[in-house]
Amino acid sequence: MPHADPLAKKRYMKAWHRKNRERLSERRKQYYQKNREKLLAYCRQWRIDNEEKCRVGVTRYRHRNREAIRQRQREYVRKNPEKIRAYSEANREILYAKKKTKRRSPEYRITNRNASHRRRAMERSVISTATKEQIQRLLSRAKRCYYCSRPFGSKLRRTIDHIIAISNDGPHSIDNLLVACKSCNSAKRNKGTDFTASRFGVLPL
Ligand SMILES: [Zn+2]
Repeated sequence: MPHADPLAKKRYMKAWHRKNRERLSERRKQYYQKNREKLLAYCRQWRIDNEEKCRVGVTRYRHRNREAIRQRQREYVRKNPEKIRAYSEANREILYAKKKTKRRSPEYRITNRNASHRRRAMERSVISTATKEQIQRLLSRAKRCYYCSRPFGSKLRRTIDHIIAISNDGPHSIDNLLVACKSCNSAKRNKGTDFTASRFGVLPL
């Protein structure tokens, strides 16, 4: 029966779909089973033709479903220990090389250090708000060690220094962070601002 009122038509269609939901889903399933190969081939081609769109979509999906994906992976690993072992044995060298490259990347180091700082901050129940991006920015802007003023380079690495050490309940937040070289950082340890004032003649602001 044709509807003069478009809203009424919409309501009618909605109700019809609700009523026939199971039948429709059954029909879709059958259609999929019958044309599975064709549909899969179509999808494959679509992914090739729309690489950029696909990449964005995958990233977005991964971001939105992070927890569910992790859960699925954990489940898979738990259920297939032999498969995992066989795979890692067959690809031992490739996997090792991959791991090594990853560990060497500055990005990984920052993430890793930040994670351990955050963990320590959490253990001491102090504020932990510094993000990886903030630390990255802080590190890239620092040209010299805050304490000894030597310029950073391949011989002098940047490290993140907590003005008030986490072990003295200093927060892991950007306003409590400085960039210092490793030797100054370890000389300072958790001695605080009095020590840096007497040793380096500078007070962290
Ligand atoms: Zn220094």
